[in-house]
Amino acid sequence: MISGPGGVGKSTVAERLAAADPALWLSRSWTTRPRRPGEREDAYHFVDRATFESRARQGGFLETASYLGHLYGTPTPEAPPGQDVLLEIDVQGARQVRAADPTAVVVLLVAPSPEAQAERLRARGDDDEHVARRLELAAREEAEGRQIVDHVVVNDSAERAVGELLGILGAHRGSS
Ligand code: 5GP
Repeated sequence: MISGPGGVGKSTVAERLAAADPALWLSRSWTTRPRRPGEREDAYHFVDRATFESRARQGGFLETASYLGHLYGTPTPEAPPGQDVLLEIDVQGARQVRAADPTAVVVLLVAPSPEAQAERLRARGDDDEHVARRLELAAREEAEGRQIVDHVVVNDSAERAVGELLGILGAHRGSS
């Protein structure tokens, strides 16, 4: 799992990591959040609340979380045999998955500075109020995350962070 507060660049790093390692299978989450202007259509499986809740009732999620008024969930993974599942998930989700599978490896991705994180949130079109709420939540999430994770990686550059993650993966695969 790649976890951490919003705005640290988890999705970019997760996509690049999956592209760099063919034995990784990147899960696509469901969300009730509307798609942002310019956001990729396949960034999530975008659904309305009734559709989300119906899947949840059928036990179709590994975990779900509520984040700033919207629901997010990891569908029960269906990775091809031999592939490792990669989740990009917030800290509440990581805690749930860890409880279900104590062998799951959690990496907390953190921004190099609060300024860099605010800049990233603004750049993707969130308004000032939203940025402020997300930063407040982010500080809490980072503190909680540090208590449950196996590794902390600073996203000072996506390329460097992916390199570090490949090393972490290699070390865990070698020891399991
Ligand atoms: P955003 O709205 O910025 O795309 O995502 C908000 C937060 O929800 C981010 O921290 C993101 O990593 C997290 N998130 C995305 N998908 C899931 C999911 O399936 N489960 C959980 N628990 N969090 C998710």
